[in-house]
Amino acid sequence: VPLKRQMKDNMEKQLSPEAYELLTFIGKEADSLGMKAYLIGGMVRDLLMSRKNEDMDIVVEGDGITLADHLQQKYGGHVRSHEEFRTATWKYSYAFKVDLTSARTEYYDFPAALPKVELSTIKEDLFRRDFTINAMAICLHRDEFGELIDYFHGFEDLKQRQIRILYNLSFVEDPTRILRAIRFESRFHYAMDQQTEALAVESANNLLSVSKSRIANELSRLFMEENPLFSVKRFVKLGLLPFLIKDTDTETIILQRIKRLYDAVYRIKKSEVQVNNSLWIIYVLFLTTIKNKSWMEVEKYCLTKEDMKLLSNLQLLLKSDPLLDWSYHATKDEWHEVFSEFEVEVLISYFSLYPNVLTQGCDYLIAREKLTSIITGEDLIENGFDPGPHFRKLLLESEKIQLNNPKITSKEIIEHLISRNDI
Ligand code: ATP
Repeated sequence: VPLKRQMKDNMEKQLSPEAYELLTFIGKEADSLGMKAYLIGGMVRDLLMSRKNEDMDIVVEGDGITLADHLQQKYGGHVRSHEEFRTATWKYSYAFKVDLTSARTEYYDFPAALPKVELSTIKEDLFRRDFTINAMAICLHRDEFGELIDYFHGFEDLKQRQIRILYNLSFVEDPTRILRAIRFESRFHYAMDQQTEALAVESANNLLSVSKSRIANELSRLFMEENPLFSVKRFVKLGLLPFLIKDTDTETIILQRIKRLYDAVYRIKKSEVQVNNSLWIIYVLFLTTIKNKSWMEVEKYCLTKEDMKLLSNLQLLLKSDPLLDWSYHATKDEWHEVFSEFEVEVLISYFSLYPNVLTQGCDYLIAREKLTSIITGEDLIENGFDPGPHFRKLLLESEKIQLNNPKITSKEIIEHLISRNDI
């Protein structure tokens, strides 16, 4: 018997009026087709935690595609459906995307295999989920609208701040759940309960049988959370490293290196330097020895072109390795002369490998971010410079001058450029 709790007031208070209305439509239209619809997963969890989340996952006792098509006919938008899994995505408007799945039971042929599908009920659908806090549903059916359905005591675990699997073989069936558990620990500052943690340790070797792309998918989401250092500490504690990377470095070195990168990123972000998401792949790289063989292994984890590009640009920079004999007294313009062409993500990763000058490297990145282009190509032409490839050098020179004298005016820069006849 599931624990029941009325959530209607919470929903009205926390959700945007549009989201609330959309959920009532979905419930009503499912009713009219003789189906029952439930809101499920992350959004239910986040409602209970008062965190903003309007990504609607709907499970239907009935057929998800039929309901999606019906909603689309009645309210507009677009539907994309996947026949094989009886799932559909209804893009209702710019703001709302609704995923609809048919309640189902899944049988696993062998660990980490793709599931076979058979239509079934909500409880069984909830039972195949990862953790109790993600295995709650809210009923959207007429009189039961807003009722929380909680078969596995997710609400209790939420109060206890616990990540708990639903059955003992959970991590064996899908070892990527171990990485997901750490992701939720990290995001919510929760902890796995004792038994879940023990089973994570016991099942860790099963990660070896999972495809690189599924691991990469979870690793990327994990390292995009706020605190990658936490996650790596958990990898060490649970003994996961050897099952994620063949060429691992020693734990002490890994933790030092990752802490440096994490602290440096934290610092520059605080000073409004934008760092993009592809940085996650560097956290993977920093688990390795960063020797020749490491790059190939990490490349296999790349998910996007940006990930690949970041990795190869860092490799390139490490080949010339300018910081190897860098002067402690280098001025900002000297940093800029060498590093102006490289992106923030490449540089912050590279600088993290040099603890002695990391602070200055961060200072440089922060100063560089504040650079405004007070000189343009047109200014140069107006002041009698002939257009050509050397403009790039002149503009770089102008940035170097600005880095050393942030208050300088454009007129003074032009005068300086005119006085230089070596460019
Ligand atoms: P986020 O807030 O980061 O989007 P989420 O909880 O929505 O997190 P998703 O990865 O988007 O997580 O998955 C949506 C839901 O699908 C989860 O709440 C969970 O119930 C279920 N789920 C996802 N992956 C798995 C898995 N590997 N095993 C079992 N259930 C899963």
